[in-house]
Amino acid sequence: MTISVERTKTPKQKPGTDQLVFGKVFSDHMFICDYSPDKGWHNARIVPYQNLSIDPSTMTLHYAQSIFEGLKAYKTKDGHVNLFRPRENIKRLNASCRRLCIPTVDEEFALTAIKKLVDVDRDWIPEGDGTSLYIRPFIFATEPHIGVRPSTTYSFVIITGPVGAYYKEGINPVKIYVEPNYVRAVRGGLGEIKASANYAASLKAQVEANEKGYTQVLWLDGVEKKYIEEVGTMNVFFIIGDEIVTPELSGSILPGITRKSCIELLRHWGYNMNERRISIQEVYEAHEKGLLKEVFGTGTAAVISPVGELCWNGNVITINNGKTGPISQRLYDTLTGIQYGKLPDEFGWIE
Ligand code: PMP
Repeated sequence: MTISVERTKTPKQKPGTDQLVFGKVFSDHMFICDYSPDKGWHNARIVPYQNLSIDPSTMTLHYAQSIFEGLKAYKTKDGHVNLFRPRENIKRLNASCRRLCIPTVDEEFALTAIKKLVDVDRDWIPEGDGTSLYIRPFIFATEPHIGVRPSTTYSFVIITGPVGAYYKEGINPVKIYVEPNYVRAVRGGLGEIKASANYAASLKAQVEANEKGYTQVLWLDGVEKKYIEEVGTMNVFFIIGDEIVTPELSGSILPGITRKSCIELLRHWGYNMNERRISIQEVYEAHEKGLLKEVFGTGTAAVISPVGELCWNGNVITINNGKTGPISQRLYDTLTGIQYGKLPDEFGWIE
């Protein structure tokens, strides 16, 4: 399928590198492609960034048949544009589609669409340290219809926007509230895909944790509220003695691409890296014995987000004196080094 390009006649003012706020400013163009049962995916086009016109009965507004992805384009010192493991995002996009009865997209076509859109708006990729162009592909039901069943029509849209460095003054450990009541996802539900509905489900706990002075929540499993799943919108790792542990993909955990990359790097470096069930009790016991060395979240936005403090049922523990640990730092430096082309792409992660 060819992708037509209509360039904007009224380019927007680009923000300065010091004015970049996540998710507020969008580049001049967007990609859009439609699906209907008779034509399949068709009419792929890059057009000026604009409003979408939707009928009030559009199914996605009522039944949340909507999924998305998030990845970044990085500009290297010599002016190359790097995408980090974009095929993994497209595979996950299609996994999300399958779970929500949305027609999948051709992997090569989706990658071409991302690359072409980024190229059209390449002047929007900021150049300051730690800055990038955030890429947000999403697919949603467009059929005007009230009544619960899969939509017959869909739109696949990609928007992008320049984002600043996540950490302005070096990596900053965060305070995390272990959520005892609300759950993010359950096995058999939507937790292992990027359904918009998951994020709606997470808001209440997030707001209440913020009110208590915590940045994010640590999610426990939805049945026993015993085993650790994720931290906020990140996967989570624990360094206990000589072992590094991340919760195994249980069916309710999002398979993060940063998570996968960290596991691969840590194993490559020779660490005892295990994917297994880990309870919050085990983490607190390890801390009591002086074995809990580092805790960190992993995700596209922050790459590595160290946890400096945990609060579980009123018991507060401090991890690594609230400082960034050496393994968290090494992962951060290596991943960002590869993303910005400062380190060799040993694993073939850059496209
Ligand atoms: N868990 C959730 C719930 C997320 O939304 C994200 C962000 N996509 C992640 C984990 C981390 O995934 P990734 O490393 O692919 O960004």
